[in-house]
Amino acid sequence: MKPFDYYRAADLTEAAATHQPGSVFIAGGTNLVDLMKLQVMTPDRVIDIARLGLDRIEDDGDGLRIGALVSNSDLAADPRVRKRWPVLSRALLAGASGQLRNKATTGGNLLQRTRCPYFQDLATPCNKRTPGSGCAAMGGELRNHAVLGTSAHCLALNPGDMAVALRALDAVVEFRDAQGIAHAHPIAGFHLPPGTTPDVETVLPPGALITSVALPAPKGDRQIYRKVRDRASYAFALVSVAAVLRLERGRIVHAALAFGGLGTVPWRDPAVDALLTGEAPSMVLFDKAADLLLHPAQPREGTAFKLPLTRRLLRAVLEEATQ
Ligand code: SF4
Repeated sequence: MKPFDYYRAADLTEAAATHQPGSVFIAGGTNLVDLMKLQVMTPDRVIDIARLGLDRIEDDGDGLRIGALVSNSDLAADPRVRKRWPVLSRALLAGASGQLRNKATTGGNLLQRTRCPYFQDLATPCNKRTPGSGCAAMGGELRNHAVLGTSAHCLALNPGDMAVALRALDAVVEFRDAQGIAHAHPIAGFHLPPGTTPDVETVLPPGALITSVALPAPKGDRQIYRKVRDRASYAFALVSVAAVLRLERGRIVHAALAFGGLGTVPWRDPAVDALLTGEAPSMVLFDKAADLLLHPAQPREGTAFKLPLTRRLLRAVLEEATQ
């Protein structure tokens, strides 16, 4: 590992003042430390933010405000979350392992990096790791890669589970910029597709620090998170679906569907939600939703299996959610 300076910040002001180009913030470190050991990330300065007091889940009107340092385990186990936002609890419990969830934080989870194997291999070109160097995945082995939101420069998958549920729940990411000014950004658009700059992964400006995630009151009481993966635990999604629905008199009056394992960002297509809204559930309708969702997909050898898998998973989730 490359040597680095270590600071422990006592508060947000100190964290911001200590940050300089080449610095990173560390909380749980479950992804960052691995990447530092591989020398994929080589910060000059590591600023520990674990003691900033951002580890509370507070009632916020009819919603919740989740501190950025709340662990994935604590968030999944919170009785309020389990009762009113079960899709979030289930998505969290579907991610990583118990040990990792105990350390991983809400803010860090949103910023986890892709697990594209070429990104982690310094011997291969990668536009995300070294801008302009090329993309080894394009002619390489593909499986855990994206089919939606890709570009000619990168097709790395966003590996999140929590973020997929947060997209279906219309969460808002709250952060402080390097000047200490507070901002709030909807989770929609928070993660950026690769375009021509795969190294820029979120809207966060340099030196910004996520402080909390605001969770509005749930718009649907029928919530499901289902994840298909190679192993029963401790594996990333081949495809996952977060569904939040509400039905009245046999019709879908609210539909929010978000997907993991498919996109370069946690994926949600408003047109799919709109197609379902106002309709009576049927297999014909669910197939139309799958057609619409997958229409822009760009599968390659190695990822083409995701399309029929997504269709079957979506049908099953919608059938269960509308029973
Ligand atoms: Fe790098 Fe993206 Fe290509 Fe993977 S897909 S090698 S992360 S540029």
